[in-house]
Amino acid sequence: MGQDQTKQQIEKGLQLYQSNHTEKALQVWMKVLEKSSDLVGRFRVLGCLVTAHSEMGRYKEMLKFAVVQIDTARELEDANFLLESYLNLARSNEKLCEFHKTISYCKTCLGLPGTRAAAQLGGQVSLSMGNAFLGLSLFQKALESFEKALRYAHNNDDAMLECRVCCSLGSFYAQVKDYEKALFFPCKAAELVNDYGKGWSLKYRAMSQYHMAVAYRLLGHLGSAMECCEESMKIALQHGDRPLQALCLLCFADIHRSRGDLETAFPRYDSAMSIMTEIGNRLGQVQVLLGVAKCWVARKALDKALDAIERAQDLAEEVGNKLGQLKLHCLSEGIYRSKGLQRELRAHVVRFHECVEETELYCGLCGESIGEKNSRLQALPCSHIFHLRCLQNNGTRSCPNCRRSSMKPGFV
Ligand SMILES: [Zn+2]
Repeated sequence: MGQDQTKQQIEKGLQLYQSNHTEKALQVWMKVLEKSSDLVGRFRVLGCLVTAHSEMGRYKEMLKFAVVQIDTARELEDANFLLESYLNLARSNEKLCEFHKTISYCKTCLGLPGTRAAAQLGGQVSLSMGNAFLGLSLFQKALESFEKALRYAHNNDDAMLECRVCCSLGSFYAQVKDYEKALFFPCKAAELVNDYGKGWSLKYRAMSQYHMAVAYRLLGHLGSAMECCEESMKIALQHGDRPLQALCLLCFADIHRSRGDLETAFPRYDSAMSIMTEIGNRLGQVQVLLGVAKCWVARKALDKALDAIERAQDLAEEVGNKLGQLKLHCLSEGIYRSKGLQRELRAHVVRFHECVEETELYCGLCGESIGEKNSRLQALPCSHIFHLRCLQNNGTRSCPNCRRSSMKPGFV
């Protein structure tokens, strides 16, 4: 298969893929990979295979193709291709919750010689890195990366990237519990989809609706949460988007749990769990088990709750997610308190405080915790976060955490 035919077949696959004939598209692309001797064509087709497998949630295959793509890029001896393939490798590891590897491959990307592609892909590298830092609950570093990605998006008029960063920022603020911002950013993403997204894949709309659903649920607007989640799920089902289906099922379950309808919540947690296990989203599994444990606590079935917590704790430690560990210790603390088991209770209190230290989830001005209850937060340009009210009351010009005098004039 020569250059022209390779090009044609890649295009044919893309058309099939875009009209939802995914399996047929994969067949066409696999044949190109088998038959084509054109290196650039092979590189492109590997990129298509990486994206398609990512969207289907087949993350192990995604990783496999990304690795082959790097070899092809090396053969081509081209820095742009190398960058693109390392970004794919970083993303595959991000999806598989291998956050340290993700960060290391992103750093490889940023260390490659500056090219035109570097200017275009730099934002995506920063986004992936931010997602990985968020996975590790390194909040300041995550925010720093997201803001960098946002700057790339603005400088390059890349609305698609901005949309994705806004969704990640929604997730960031949901985790540190500034629910107002947790809703603001995905709403902004939905706005971008409305304004610029005529030709975009529907997954952007689905993604923004999902993040809005999460924020509405946290704010207690359960009707709006349900509406957004249903919209997101509809698209995820149409597109065979397994990863998003799993997240929506988790969100449905959380909504039912918030309503006190545990009977309806349990089967949804089960369905979410089975998809997340299938695709290898271990962080998602931690969230599911956390929800399940809360349901058991509500039913006063404390031993069942402890079982779920134990499984979740193992997974959270495996992927290095500190916030999950923190929440699980907090939940355990309550359970052992009501059981009157002092020794176990104290052990969890100690581990809980270690997690708080490691995640730096406290305000450097008042010393009180961040992420315990909904409160308005504000980041300084150094990406350290504080209570908004503390910044307003103190009028400080330098960050008390890093002592860097980095506040923009007129900020307060
Ligand atoms: Zn404070």
